[in-house]
Amino acid sequence: MNTEVIERWIEAGKNIAINPSVNVLCPVCQKVFLQILDIKFDTETPQFERHMICNECGAYNALRL
Ligand SMILES: [Zn+2]
Repeated sequence: MNTEVIERWIEAGKNIAINPSVNVLCPVCQKVFLQILDIKFDTETPQFERHMICNECGAYNALRL
């Protein structure tokens, strides 16, 4: 992964953390918008992971919120 792609993931993560319904282009192929999927954990403090998936190239990343 090159620096440009990493920077685009960071930018995508920031936008998606603020607004999960935002359309963010895939940082890798930049062809399609990322699919957002929240997975909740059953812990004492509410916690979940927001997964970002590209259906075009299979790129994947996750944020823990
Ligand atoms: Zn992609």
